[in-house]
Amino acid sequence: MTEELFREDSYLKECDALVVSADDAGVILDRTVCYPLGGGQPGDAGTMSWGSSSVAIVDTRYAEDGSIRHVVDNGAALPSVGDTVRIILDWDRRYRHMRMHTAMHLLGSILHYGVTGGNISAEKSRLDFDMEDTVDKEAVTAALEALVAQDHAVSCRWISDEELDAQPELVRTMSVQPPRGKGRIRLLEIENVDLQPCGGTHLRSTAEVGKVRIGKVEKKGKRNRRVNIHLDD
Ligand SMILES: [Zn+2]
Repeated sequence: MTEELFREDSYLKECDALVVSADDAGVILDRTVCYPLGGGQPGDAGTMSWGSSSVAIVDTRYAEDGSIRHVVDNGAALPSVGDTVRIILDWDRRYRHMRMHTAMHLLGSILHYGVTGGNISAEKSRLDFDMEDTVDKEAVTAALEALVAQDHAVSCRWISDEELDAQPELVRTMSVQPPRGKGRIRLLEIENVDLQPCGGTHLRSTAEVGKVRIGKVEKKGKRNRRVNIHLDD
């Protein structure tokens, strides 16, 4: 399995790693800073270099066995098993994903409806809500801006199923029911704002979200509102 360095520190921009396997499907390493597609957040891009060679990482995905595959262009030169490679993230893109992802938690804390879907990209993101009400774009943007200005601390922690069972008040404060049965659950907490299970990469504080606004609100069926979020820089 690949050691997931981004889980403990989402601000890591590079690392050295050993090549476990390399073929046309991609390169699997013993550790990585690259986040694999999941939870609505895109897989990371970046570069992989070794010796005098280097190749672009165009995507990052989970392999079927749970290890992490760094996808490279077809026909690109590949490192050999056992080589040490240096991974450097496309940090500008990932940082926008982190700003978007954290902003989506804020949006979910403002609109208290069930979330039926969502997608993050560096350009725009969206959350789908199970709701019939109309969305006041100006009011929601103002509420988002207030949460950003208040600079709430953001943190992650792991908790076991047993610890969760011993603290029923935790489940009551969560907006999403935690996925049990895997032994441990990763919780994302935005102090005084949001607490829920989440495996994505987030900011350290809401101030880093920066300039954010609600874009188009689309009616996708009687009980579904798609709310788009934009970063304005
Ligand atoms: Zn999250």
